[in-house]
Amino acid sequence: MDDDIRYEQHVRRVLRTPLQVLQPLMLALWPLSLWSNPLIGSPYKPRYFAVMLLLLAISALLSVARSARMMSLTFTGNIWALALAFRIQIQDGGAVGHYWNLPIAVIIVLGTCGMTYRLSHYLITLAGAAFILFIGQTQLVPTAMPIHLVWLLASATLAIGIAYNHANSQWMRRTFILKERYRILAETDELTGIANRRKLLQQLDEARGESGQTPAHFVMLDIDNFKEINDRHGHQVGDQVLVATAREIDQLDPRLQVGRLGGEEFGLLIRGLDDARVSHLLEVLRNRLAAAAPLGISFSAGALRLDPEVSLNELLRWADEGLYQAKRQGKDQMVWPH
Ligand code: GH3
Ligand code: MG
Ligand code: MG
Repeated sequence: MDDDIRYEQHVRRVLRTPLQVLQPLMLALWPLSLWSNPLIGSPYKPRYFAVMLLLLAISALLSVARSARMMSLTFTGNIWALALAFRIQIQDGGAVGHYWNLPIAVIIVLGTCGMTYRLSHYLITLAGAAFILFIGQTQLVPTAMPIHLVWLLASATLAIGIAYNHANSQWMRRTFILKERYRILAETDELTGIANRRKLLQQLDEARGESGQTPAHFVMLDIDNFKEINDRHGHQVGDQVLVATAREIDQLDPRLQVGRLGGEEFGLLIRGLDDARVSHLLEVLRNRLAAAAPLGISFSAGALRLDPEVSLNELLRWADEGLYQAKRQGKDQMVWPH
């Protein structure tokens, strides 16, 4: 999964709760404003019901939106529908209907800034809402209101909105980066840089579930006589051997995922190959590791084909069985226990 998709998911999770609070507020604002507006006559005109239905429909879309992109689009639609709703009310308000313009514009500018995570999205949402609200109106604010105060109010509101939108986007990006850093730390083996046991077992479980459609294999591999390497050449050389082994396995084939299960034991998850090609791949690895720097090594391994019916624990037990059979039979070989 790439970073952009992960970021979108992060945004969706962050915005979900504030949206759940804001949505009912937006829905309640419309009927309340109708009932409390003495300028429009009856609050039960068919077009008011139509607008309410439109707001409800967009809210429903917003609550089922699965991606952050869909959520942004429907949020913008929701704001534009709200602008349309109030434009109708302003129109019906007659000579003083335009008194609504400023308060509605301020609510939209401030209510939208925290819910849009890109400045461009914020500004597009505002521009569309302003167009719907103001286009064709000959008078936007009460004549008694000094125009420089109107400008001051409008620009201060917009500046606050942009500043908050920027701060919010930055905060969202930073929390994402932090979360990613911890996720990677939690999934990586410190010494070798490959996946750790937790991550590999997670991938293995996923591959096991999908193995009905895509064949997959698991190989548990253990370096032979590794203790001797440590004893003879020192722990540091032992570490270098582990790093070199991890690198060789990692570069073996793009269909292969590798993780360190612990100590000098590695797990290999291979997708989309048959048994014979898995055996061949491991033979290639055997030759490469025998010639690898700083020390050539051999390994023993247990291999098996994944099966959705077989649990993860059983899989690990079988692979372990194969590995120990290989050790008992003299090491430097791979055994298929089933
Ligand atoms: P076998 O062929 O039966 O697998 O024997 P072995 O010597 O490879 O296995 P054994 O389990 O006896 O020893 C494994 C050694 O690996 C013991 C332990 O100190 C060492 N080891 C475990 N983790 C690390 C590590 O991160 N770095 C180094 N250098 N050594 C490690
Ligand atoms: Mg060993
Ligand atoms: Mg071992």
